[in-house]
Amino acid sequence: MSASHRAEIGVIGGSGLYEFLVDAVAVEVDTPYGPPSDRLVIGEVAGRRVAFVPRHGVDHRWPPHRIPYRANLWALRSLGVGQVLAPCAVGSLRHDRPIGSLVIPDQVIDRTSGRVGTFYDGPPAGIVHVAFADPYCPVGRDVATRAAAAAGWAPFGDGTLVVIEGPRFSSRAESAWYAAGGASIVGMTGQPEATLARELALCYTTLALVTDLDAGIETGSGVTMAEVFAIFGKNVARLRDLLFAVIGTLPQERRCPCPATLDGLRTGIVLP
Ligand SMILES: [Zn+2]
Repeated sequence: MSASHRAEIGVIGGSGLYEFLVDAVAVEVDTPYGPPSDRLVIGEVAGRRVAFVPRHGVDHRWPPHRIPYRANLWALRSLGVGQVLAPCAVGSLRHDRPIGSLVIPDQVIDRTSGRVGTFYDGPPAGIVHVAFADPYCPVGRDVATRAAAAAGWAPFGDGTLVVIEGPRFSSRAESAWYAAGGASIVGMTGQPEATLARELALCYTTLALVTDLDAGIETGSGVTMAEVFAIFGKNVARLRDLLFAVIGTLPQERRCPCPATLDGLRTGIVLP
């Protein structure tokens, strides 16, 4: 693979985030799990090589429950990526995290079902149980929190993201239940993305933009799709600027626990 097809940092959530890259190349990547959501776009940001995965495809054809999560993560690692940034749109479960807030979650609750959430699902893969007590990279979270504060977009530097199966939004009762269980934001793509990143010993950091109030705290008729897209569109430039700032300040050397995830474990499969 040519040097121009290598990257050290991955971003999942392409739409609107990489169009202004200079000298970007679109790369077709194949994986043992089929093709990723779309062609990856590789370019340079702040002197770093970055690969962008349009999570839903460039024409937004993949609904959250059909995204080829395994292929996306595998493709990133096969390009040399060690650190993954995952911007996403979420609903807020708390009034103190209003629309337009940025949340860097430190915990996740997985309420998805029917998605393949592991690379280690039987022979030839070994039996592998990765640690997941702290699902997100501590260094990535710290860098993202500081970069956002420096950019004047004071983030919520913690929070629990509950990931639902979708594609429908939550009922009021579900929403109230998630909030009572300690969740502060709700999304549809954060899992199995975080798990799969950990299973490949990648650093993974979520940057969640609050685009709506979830049903339980919404006084009107609940979340609509138009609302979500409008808010996301309004904030996409700000999110892109922040991402680029984070990319520029991520450490070259990974001193966090993430790279050692698979030490001493028999994966049974050769990782790219
Ligand atoms: Zn890490």
